[in-house]
Amino acid sequence: MVRIGLLYPDLLGTYGDGGNAAVLAARANARDMDAKVVPVTIGEALAPADIYLLGGGEDGPQRLACDLLRDAGFVERVHDGAHVLAVCAGLQILGTTFSIEGDASYPGLGLVDATTTRGPMRSVGDLATMASGRMMVGFENHGGVTVLGEGVSALGEVLVGRGNDGRVDGYRTSTMWATYAHGPVLAQNPWLADEVLSVVTGQELTPWPSVADSLYAQRCGSLSTRRSVVGRIARRH
Ligand code: GLN
Repeated sequence: MVRIGLLYPDLLGTYGDGGNAAVLAARANARDMDAKVVPVTIGEALAPADIYLLGGGEDGPQRLACDLLRDAGFVERVHDGAHVLAVCAGLQILGTTFSIEGDASYPGLGLVDATTTRGPMRSVGDLATMASGRMMVGFENHGGVTVLGEGVSALGEVLVGRGNDGRVDGYRTSTMWATYAHGPVLAQNPWLADEVLSVVTGQELTPWPSVADSLYAQRCGSLSTRRSVVGRIARRH
């Protein structure tokens, strides 16, 4: 049984990131694995899970979700081996500090050395990165600029959009994936959904072709024609 903990969809559900839970469950079921999505809402205890999902949201709900997670023993769950996929506000919450309501700095959960301050402008639009040698596509909508500490690996290199800082997006640790990409990102990037599922279950997955693959190919095709992408991909070779 794969237990998928969807954290505070009532606070961090603004951008539809709860869809990541549905995608993981569907792709597990397609491989004959049982999977259960366990939403954790305000006031509920933190149910045990193999992977926790954190989505994006506005500054106020983001701060509240961070406080609730701090009190709920979430950090201990991660130290005990639970995996995490975090998007945008979720990415910021897991870090050391983030900005809320103007420039005020707020303490994050400190699970990763990543500091978020308020950038000079909001980053809104398509986001495409090169992650694990694959193109990762989605959209971003945030005011934060995130700087990773020394030794923290980014999830991807930015091809279109801004991600953390215009150069890289998110971070990847042995148990965590974090990105600024909404989409939901696992619906738009089936290869990433399978990478996450494979790591969480410790199993190699058989391919499961679906319409998601052709939609992904179309998005990659249209984003690849952007002039900035052609240049950046050319510089990689
Ligand atoms: N409130 C955060 C910011 O603007 C996160 C936004 C989001 O989750 N999309 O940076």
